[in-house]
Amino acid sequence: MHWILLALMGCMVGVAAAVYYACWVHDSQLLGPSLVRGAAGAKRVALTFDDGPTPPCTEQILDILKAHGIQATFFVNGKLVERFPNIVARIHREGHALGNHTYSHPCLRLKSRKRIAWEIDRTQEAIERVTGVRPKVFRSPYGVRWFGLFSVLREQGMWSVQWSDTGFDWVEKNTAEDIAAKTVANLRDGSVILLHDGCGACEPGEVIHAKTVAALPAIIEEVYRRGFKFVSVHDFLPPRTR
Ligand SMILES: [Zn+2]
Repeated sequence: MHWILLALMGCMVGVAAAVYYACWVHDSQLLGPSLVRGAAGAKRVALTFDDGPTPPCTEQILDILKAHGIQATFFVNGKLVERFPNIVARIHREGHALGNHTYSHPCLRLKSRKRIAWEIDRTQEAIERVTGVRPKVFRSPYGVRWFGLFSVLREQGMWSVQWSDTGFDWVEKNTAEDIAAKTVANLRDGSVILLHDGCGACEPGEVIHAKTVAALPAIIEEVYRRGFKFVSVHDFLPPRTR
């Protein structure tokens, strides 16, 4: 009898490990296809920012990108798009791409397909109202993907985008120097860099990503020093999704 119980427990642990891997591990492709890095060969990297728009960080980042003539991708939250439409309009006007990062930044774990669709739809509509364009790229909050997400994305003609490199700018103890060093530590041809211009769980106005803003010039300088150029994350997608 005991061995049946043990086998059953073994199965449950195995299923839990598989679900953890499929949903939580940022480069997993088990639930559906996610872009993690682009094809190598053209010395390109893509800069992406999550959790905005949030004044003043987003605007300061836009100023730095403009000064260097760099295009980035901003994965925005719908509720902040509604609150700060002028910043979203500026992102679009200055040639950056917009991506969908849900309406209210929930972890998608255990969320119903209906709730996931609502989060995505409402954000698509908010962005379209401001820019006239519906994003083609989606990034899950905390990188956690869940059952039902990929069928919603397929319906919307959208692509899940994760990341290959990050400065861990959400970790409070990291200084601007730490963020810059971690961002470029493993940088390769095709890297998709994750940074933040806002915070899913904080009030807009809290200047929590001042360190990201401070780190950005050093990151840009190092990327150029290594001979890479910045492209939109869309340049890494297969042709049908552009
Ligand atoms: Zn986020």
